[in-house]
Formats: sequence, structure tokens, C-alpha cells
Amino acid sequence: MPAVVPKGLPLVVTPDAGFLKQMNDDIKVNVNVCYQCRKCSAGCPMSYAMDYTPAQLIHAIRLGLKDIVLNSKTMWMCSSCQTCTTRCPQEVDIAKVMDTVKIMAVAEGVKPPVSRVHKFNRASLRNIKWFGRMYELGLIGDLKMRTFEFFKDMGLGIKMFMHGKLKIIPPISPGRTLTTMGIFSRTYKKEMEKSK
Ligand code: SF4
Ligand code: SF4
Repeated sequence: MPAVVPKGLPLVVTPDAGFLKQMNDDIKVNVNVCYQCRKCSAGCPMSYAMDYTPAQLIHAIRLGLKDIVLNSKTMWMCSSCQTCTTRCPQEVDIAKVMDTVKIMAVAEGVKPPVSRVHKFNRASLRNIKWFGRMYELGLIGDLKMRTFEFFKDMGLGIKMFMHGKLKIIPPISPGRTLTTMGIFSRTYKKEMEKSK
């Protein structure tokens, strides 16, 4: 797959020497042991939709190409299936790297190149925060309000409803909601402390 410089970035990108260290410090995944066998890319079910394959993204991280990595579509297309991590002979946790660069991109204010996925992630988290588990109909409503795609996948939604997969009444449990809100609040505090 030919490498493509994301739109809006200059053709010459200056390496960021601190990027690899930041990655190592944050998640303790040593991407330097990667020897580019590309087993991760070969097994990735989403690589067809990525601008860089998982192996290319790992290589870009090693080179300190922070701008290219954070502006890439790759981590936004990753479905966290863990195939790459399982297949890597060097035990690089590539799926964790994908999550980390996604978090870094959001923290640094990079506009997600696949905004739908970002909106879906946000809507899912809000849903779990309020209900303590996934309330699918609420998630669909939230997402539609943010994407304005009111009629997209409507047929599929009706089919799911007919098969009893979408419940009208949300799964309300005050105890469960308090627990998840506590988790969110502790995570938020940790993030605040880290950013100081
Ligand atoms: S499978 Fe592991 S060693 Fe092979 S290219 Fe991917 S990250 Fe590198
Ligand atoms: S976790 Fe992501 S990058 Fe790894 S194989 Fe699955 S979709 Fe591809």
C-alpha cells in the first residue's frame, strides 16, 4: 500500500524525538522491537480502510513522525479486535498502541479524520456513563442527533427492533449508574493530574 501524507500536512515532516519516549512512558509498549515482518497488517481485518497499515504506523512511531501518526485514519478504523497483538512474534501490543495514539490525538486537539467513529465513541461512553451498560436505542438517538444522518440504516434498525434486539425502556439501575459515574469521575481526575 503506498504511503500517503495526510491532507494539510507538509510533505517534509520533522521527526519528534519525544514521541517514542512519550509512548513508552504512557503505556510501556516497546515498539522498537518491531522488525517489520508485517504479520499484524496481514491479519488486520480493517487494513483495507486504513491510510497506513498497522506495521507502517508502528514504523512511523519509531521514526518519531508524530504529525503523520496523529493525523492518520488508521487508529480510527481499528476495531480493537486484537488480531495484530495476538499474531505479533515480538509481542508488541499493537491494539494498545492504536488506542493510545487515538487518545493522544484527541488530547492534542487533532481533528479526527473519521469524525463518525469519534462521534460513535463519544456517544457510547456517554451511554455507558448514564445507564451503566449499553442502551442501544439511546445510543442510536444520540448518534443521529450528532451526525444528522436520521434515516441511515433505518431498515436495519427496524429489523433489530422486530427481533427484540432494541429495547424501548432503558436498563435503569441507580446503583449501577453510580458505580460507572464513579469510574468516569476517577478517570477524569487522573487525566487532570496527568496533564498538570
Ligand atoms: S507483527 Fe509485530 S514485529 Fe511484525 S510488523 Fe507487526 S508490530 Fe512489527
Ligand atoms: S486491533 Fe485494530 S489494528 Fe489490530 S488487527 Fe484489529 S483492527 Fe487491525
